[in-house]
Amino acid sequence: MKREGLAEKIGSGKYKSDILVIGGGATGLGIAVDAAARGYRVVLLEQDDFSKGTSSRSTKLVHGGVRYLAQGDVRMVIEALRERGRMRRNAPHLVRDMRFIIGNYKWWERSFYTVGLTCYDLLAGKLGLGRSLPLSSSRIKKEIPGLKQDGLMGGVVYHDGQFDDSRMAITLAQTAFDHGGACLNYVRVNGLEKDSSGRVCGVRAVDLLDGHEFTVNSRVVVNATGVFIDDVMGMDSRQANKKVRPSQGVHLVVDRKFLGGDSALMIPKTRDGRVLFGVPWHDKVVLGTTDTPLNEASLEPCALEEEVDFILDQAGQYLAKQPTRSDVLSVFAGLRPLAAPTNGDGQKTKEISRSHKIYQADSGLLTITGGKWTTYREMAEEVVDRAIGIGGLSRRKCVTANMKLHGYAVQGPESGWDYVYGSDREKLRQLEQNDAANKELLHPEYSFRVSHVLWAVREEMAQTVEDVLARRVRALFLDARAAIEMAPRVASILAKELGKNNEWAREQVAVFNQLAKCYLI
Ligand SMILES: Cc1cc2nc3c(=O)[nH]c(=O)nc-3n(C[C@H](O)[C@H](O)[C@H](O)COP(=O)(O)OP(=O)(O)OC[C@H]3O[C@@H](n4cnc5c(N)ncnc54)[C@H](O)[C@@H]3O)c2cc1C
Repeated sequence: MKREGLAEKIGSGKYKSDILVIGGGATGLGIAVDAAARGYRVVLLEQDDFSKGTSSRSTKLVHGGVRYLAQGDVRMVIEALRERGRMRRNAPHLVRDMRFIIGNYKWWERSFYTVGLTCYDLLAGKLGLGRSLPLSSSRIKKEIPGLKQDGLMGGVVYHDGQFDDSRMAITLAQTAFDHGGACLNYVRVNGLEKDSSGRVCGVRAVDLLDGHEFTVNSRVVVNATGVFIDDVMGMDSRQANKKVRPSQGVHLVVDRKFLGGDSALMIPKTRDGRVLFGVPWHDKVVLGTTDTPLNEASLEPCALEEEVDFILDQAGQYLAKQPTRSDVLSVFAGLRPLAAPTNGDGQKTKEISRSHKIYQADSGLLTITGGKWTTYREMAEEVVDRAIGIGGLSRRKCVTANMKLHGYAVQGPESGWDYVYGSDREKLRQLEQNDAANKELLHPEYSFRVSHVLWAVREEMAQTVEDVLARRVRALFLDARAAIEMAPRVASILAKELGKNNEWAREQVAVFNQLAKCYLI
């Protein structure tokens, strides 16, 4: 997956694709994989880095959504459970089976949740991950030693998937490349090209790394820009109503001792009627999330004070040791691109359906919004099926339901970082065998090594210190202070690899440190 050469080819002004995707998050990358795997000529353009937007800021669950079942959205839960199973089957190196524990504090809760979660299991059918079962309080204490014991009467365990979202995004980009697709980061689409009949036939774009402006022709253009879809739809025609309703969700990352085991905690009803998760993730725990409606979309949203306080307070009601601000290693915020309801503005964002919506404009522009990481594959299938009709492309069937993703490897449960590379681990090992210096750690407390940075820049299109520390390895999301300490080393490796000077490296560190402040409280 190399940028040099490809950027020139696509930026030549002569390039013609069957399907051009705007946006390199879960939705756009999924479409690129689907289209490439069916043999279409596909180009994806992302204005920043792959998964810079919402797709690196999720709760890291591959799930049917227990909450949506409680809300009666059975169809969406069935769809998501099916996709959960496929995602685990097609990328077992990235999606893990996780045990989720619900502690019960009232006499009726254990039977209530056992029945509800058994329905959840049944809806998953053959693709289920494991049975939900009632647990005694002593068993719960063993699984989550950090859970408050006062009044605990037992609980229930159920299974869902857990993954690393930005690693999955990179994996999708690599998979698209494996099938002949082309994905470019740091290329912003500024306008749409139309033919004499008013049909969209390409895009105008700028390569943000060198300022080069160009056009790409395409039979179909897909707008998969998350919370920015209204901007791209506005390039096509004046919009009467906004199609997306951004809703911010915040997560706090704390030490794993707050849960103390390998199982996740699910709190089914917080003060605001949502669920709250405590999920083990790369040897830390992610606590979240919130649901705050916003009017503005941004690529780098910041957590609000009240969101941080809310999570700390709610987690503290269930954890034996109340987490405080000084325990927070990193805080990150993401914006859900919820499909705006058509029945007026009154709904709270937590009540807006998480289902996706596809809009087809008179010009042929296809826009997709909503959905979840878990359902990216099915969303992509639907979009490509629609694109075939719009672009008059030869009809070919979707092949992704059982298609292995890049790096596919069946690995045992293991801790540490390297498992996310799946079958590419062997190549990383070779980098370290060739030069022992590549084995050096970037930070004494973390297992990220020089080889990971080299791999990120040589094979995963990383261009900046942020790309490496935020999305190729997850240092910024796991521990923002440690990430700041790693930045100078990463900058100097990148400068050497990319042929940049010391000033560039210093500037990279300054920009990264400024950004990292948003992840500190
Ligand atoms: C707090 C939170 C928790 C979540 N947790 C889960 C979970 O646990 N499990 C789950 O399944 N789902 C979860 N989701 C939902 C999931 O993360 C999103 O549905 C998904 O990431 C949306 O992906 P996307 O590609 O549509 O948007 P994005 O990831 O935002 O991608 C859109 C991309 O388009 C790019 N773009 C915009 N304009 C342009 C332009 N003009 N030119 C080029 N590129 C452009 C942006 O830079 C951006 O990278 C969560 C969401 C949030 C907010």
